[in-house]
Amino acid sequence: MTLKARAQEKVERAGISNYSFDQDVLVMCGVRYTIEACECGEPGCDGVRLRKNMTAMARVLQ
Ligand SMILES: [Zn+2]
Repeated sequence: MTLKARAQEKVERAGISNYSFDQDVLVMCGVRYTIEACECGEPGCDGVRLRKNMTAMARVLQ
């Protein structure tokens, strides 16, 4: 399964239907999340981590 597919599963399991994908970036409520593999090995970990993409915000602060 691809990371993107896992991320989609994670979001849907959380009951969120208001999301979209922009290439490999997940967009929820106007916030962009980079999809990363998670290798923490914790039980119940779905192997995917969503990191808030701060690039747009950093650009505003410059
Ligand atoms: Zn993990």
